[in-house]
Amino acid sequence: MSRDETKYEKSLSETVEELVKSAGGWLNVIGRMTSTFDSALGRAGKLVDCPFANRHKKGGGRGKFRFTDDLNFEGRAICTCMQARGMSPVELLIEDGVATNWTKCMVKIFNALNPDSCHRHVRREVAPVVRTFYRELTQEQIVVRKEKLTLIARDLVDFNHPTAEPLRLYFALRGIPVNGNLKDVKFHPGLKYWADADVQDGEKEKKVLVGIFPAIVSAFRSKDGRVVNFHRIFINRDGTKAKVEEVKKICSSMPGFSGSSITIAKTEGRTLNVTEGVEKGWAVHLATGESVKAAYSCSSLPKLYVDKAEYDHVVIWSDCDPANPNRNRQSGDGQYFAWELARRLFTEGFDVTFMMPAGNPIDVKGRDWEDVIVQEGVLDLEGSYYRFQTLKQYAVKGGVERLHNRAA
Ligand SMILES: [Zn+2]
Repeated sequence: MSRDETKYEKSLSETVEELVKSAGGWLNVIGRMTSTFDSALGRAGKLVDCPFANRHKKGGGRGKFRFTDDLNFEGRAICTCMQARGMSPVELLIEDGVATNWTKCMVKIFNALNPDSCHRHVRREVAPVVRTFYRELTQEQIVVRKEKLTLIARDLVDFNHPTAEPLRLYFALRGIPVNGNLKDVKFHPGLKYWADADVQDGEKEKKVLVGIFPAIVSAFRSKDGRVVNFHRIFINRDGTKAKVEEVKKICSSMPGFSGSSITIAKTEGRTLNVTEGVEKGWAVHLATGESVKAAYSCSSLPKLYVDKAEYDHVVIWSDCDPANPNRNRQSGDGQYFAWELARRLFTEGFDVTFMMPAGNPIDVKGRDWEDVIVQEGVLDLEGSYYRFQTLKQYAVKGGVERLHNRAA
């Protein structure tokens, strides 16, 4: 094996992630690759004019763009021209024209940061971003965030509480009625929904109160079991989704959010099922009868923590997303990140089964596992063994299994 192969046996994304960390984080690295974001980088968390005026109609995105101040999403930018989660550092660099696709962009970052690299053609004259704003959360910030979470927690009730009818209706309407195995998914009778208000360039972000809605509130727990954030689904009294811009939101997270997950169901047995999203997680529990944890989004899947003391086998129920045209890979984001998780868990010693819905068109978002479970009547089948065998028929390659040889 050559020196290069032994040295870089990790995936490109893992290697780049480590290089970025040792270079002081994404806010520094972005500034070294391009000057486009300098004004936003200079005041992370504050709104500035969007550097991509062409993505906006009238107004050109004046005072709409900012880098997040949430340490768990370092380097992500948010703007009205983007979807709710904003854009990742790599997506921003591609949008800026630093590279034409994901892989090329990662290689450019790698070359820029790798100490052994001979072609470091980057803006090295640029002084690193002053990171006063971007340090770890202060004790004060942590106290404020914890207070907000505690305030929500105080009014949460279980699914079977008389007032929790909207939650029961929400799941029943989807064909996946809840029962006593539902774990960290609770009901809140009335949560405020805030939306971003229009502000001038350089102003701090402002919020307006849109209304108060019943909500399904799920707890993210860190490795050590602490509640580090809440996921909220805003609904109506009749169990339909609330008419708001973002039906699903998370709060500001506490330290330990990275790697955290929502425990949807916890049962006996050493198999854990992992999904993206609360409803899909519950559908998978109804089908398998087993423990389920859900990640916040596909990009948080690769770091999801699984306790070796509790589980031997992890079944990953992947989405089948259309390929992202900005990335040089055949697979969409959902399955890409789910596969990263599968690979990591296998190296940690878990047996892993990878389930991805088959028969989806490559260019549009196809059925996910909740759709398959409900539409194919899987829950009408008697016994979880037959249900799982049936689901395998709808999985790519009947599900991909990687088992460690445990024979003595
Ligand atoms: Zn914009």
